[in-house]
Amino acid sequence: MSARIIDGKQVAERLRGEIAARAAALSAAGTTPGLAVIMVGDNPASDVYVRNKVNACEKTGIRSFEHRLPASASRDDVTLLIHRLNADRHIHGILLQLPVPAHIDANAMTGLIAPEKDVDGLHPLNIGRLVAGLPGMVPCTPQGSLLLIQEVTRDLSGLHAVVIGRSLLFGKPMGQLLLAQDCTVTQAHSKTRELPALCRQADILVAAVGRAEMVKGEWVKPGAIVIDVGINRQADGKLLGDVDFAAASKIAAAITPVPGGVGPMTIACLLANTLKAAEKT
Ligand code: NAP
Repeated sequence: MSARIIDGKQVAERLRGEIAARAAALSAAGTTPGLAVIMVGDNPASDVYVRNKVNACEKTGIRSFEHRLPASASRDDVTLLIHRLNADRHIHGILLQLPVPAHIDANAMTGLIAPEKDVDGLHPLNIGRLVAGLPGMVPCTPQGSLLLIQEVTRDLSGLHAVVIGRSLLFGKPMGQLLLAQDCTVTQAHSKTRELPALCRQADILVAAVGRAEMVKGEWVKPGAIVIDVGINRQADGKLLGDVDFAAASKIAAAITPVPGGVGPMTIACLLANTLKAAEKT
């Protein structure tokens, strides 16, 4: 059997088209959605991510505002900027690009962002809302991953989902989103025992570890949906996922590629969160 390849680029493109149409309607009514991106210090990878986010905003009719602070910026500098952006009615979404220099407490700074402008969904109030099943801002990569799963099937009720990884950024919110879809969720991590056997029970297998091709073909249950979140750059510049794609795609029913799977969905969902915030004002 050869799995269906879930084309994240295509799904993200469709989503961006819908966002652009809604953003245009909102602008015509007098509110242009605005996203502020804060970057502290120089980090070449963050630089690329920020540029991609800014470009994506421009293409969808969302105004972007870049705030670059030097690595020497103090906690007070970042705090002041966040307070200013919280009060700015032209800004509907605020994103603190991670990582930040060690002397800046990223969690504390995220907690200062107004929850309704927290487009990364990392404010404790938004995390709590997700767990409580209340509406709020949902982190972008898990949100995008769920949309890709729903491209395959809308009814996830009763399916066994195994999520490998328990980070606040991805693993934990992904587990919550799947639980809200009535999946039976197993959250695996570095201390999990018998991981291959556990994965073989998964109707939905989500890998977010950061280890190239850790998930082998024989870990995959025949007919499973496999979502590969990992981005692992090799010495030759090639990107590999956390799943051995060649082997797993012979066994799964559907699988996301790396690149071109989950990655494009992250920015599309960031735009969606910004638009959602603007529509609520
Ligand atoms: P992270 O914070 O480093 O978390 C990795 C998780 O994997 C941890 O929970 C860790 O367990 C678990 N883990 C590590 N080794 C393991 C093992 N041998 N067996 C089972 N579990 C293991 O990483 P993250 O931020 O969640 O990101 C994970 C991957 O997704 C990375 O490759 C990242 O680049 C990628 N990512 C992609 C996007 C995108 O847009 N596509 C967005 C975010 C992240 P412990 O908790 O026990 O340490």
